[in-house]
Amino acid sequence: MFELRRDPVTGWWSAIVTDRTFEHASFVVQATPIEGTHCRHCDDDPTPSADAAEETAIRRVTLRQDAFHRIDTGQERTGQLSVEQAMAASGSWEILVAPREHHERLADAPPRLAVNLLRALRDTMREMAAEPRPDDEPRYIQAVQSYGMQAGSRSSHLNMELYSIPQVPHWVAEEIGGGARYVIKTRSCVWCSLARSEEESGERLVLAEERFVVFAPAASRSAFELMIVPRAHAADFTTLDDDDIAAATATLQRTLGALDALGDPPYNLFLHTAPVGERLDETFHWHWEVHPRLRVIAGLERATALAVNPAAPEYAAGLLREHLGKGSV
Ligand SMILES: [Zn+2]
Ligand SMILES: [Zn+2]
Ligand SMILES: [Zn+2]
Repeated sequence: MFELRRDPVTGWWSAIVTDRTFEHASFVVQATPIEGTHCRHCDDDPTPSADAAEETAIRRVTLRQDAFHRIDTGQERTGQLSVEQAMAASGSWEILVAPREHHERLADAPPRLAVNLLRALRDTMREMAAEPRPDDEPRYIQAVQSYGMQAGSRSSHLNMELYSIPQVPHWVAEEIGGGARYVIKTRSCVWCSLARSEEESGERLVLAEERFVVFAPAASRSAFELMIVPRAHAADFTTLDDDDIAAATATLQRTLGALDALGDPPYNLFLHTAPVGERLDETFHWHWEVHPRLRVIAGLERATALAVNPAAPEYAAGLLREHLGKGSV
């Protein structure tokens, strides 16, 4: 029934259904729109309405200055964390918003606006990375886009969220460790190797572009999960120049557009990049991950943290390729 597959980076196992005929219709899910009579991002936009249509500038809005407080429960058993310690280990929550009235999906945004959003993302991440922090304090800046209520979105306004976290999150830490182990074993980067081998074999390949390779990971943790890997080896997304950003945006828009094969599915898009100030030039390789939110997490997954994926990535990639093929003819 399930094929157990191990992720080549993290070493995490997934249980993947591979041995049955997949019904396309069973994966079709519509994103639930965010209800509300008015949009705070439209309301807060200072641009006069008359100019709004032509506007492609991205606004940076700080939602919470001190969104995260790290409390090390092992060391701070009493719960008496001093103010300095708490302040030292706090992080912010920011959002980058498109101009007024832009409630379209990232896939459908005018290319110039989409490029500006990614450029603003890079620039904001650079600024956040430059903010002062104690020497030994880790800092990870997580960029996320959530589309549809099922994905936890709070606004239908085109946006990208940024979380500055005083901790390297578990998932990223596992990827960093996995990347380093792979280099020790093979003297090469696991993401560079994956991009090459997935393109060569082609069975899980969705897009092979000039600067990016998009594929469904062999041990996908969720149905129709996609990995967007730049061909050029680089650990840190914020080192991209404007040319790279334009190429990254085009690939991202095409990739998200491919999900229309599933209707208009809710998804989480996230960036995995090197933590602030960490020199991982050899061992890490930045990438995007797209996780469509097609179903709820069930008991076995909660109980074991073993991902259960009802769609073989080979099937998922085939369906998305077919959809992209239709669009371009
Ligand atoms: Zn709005
Ligand atoms: Zn690489
Ligand atoms: Zn990743």
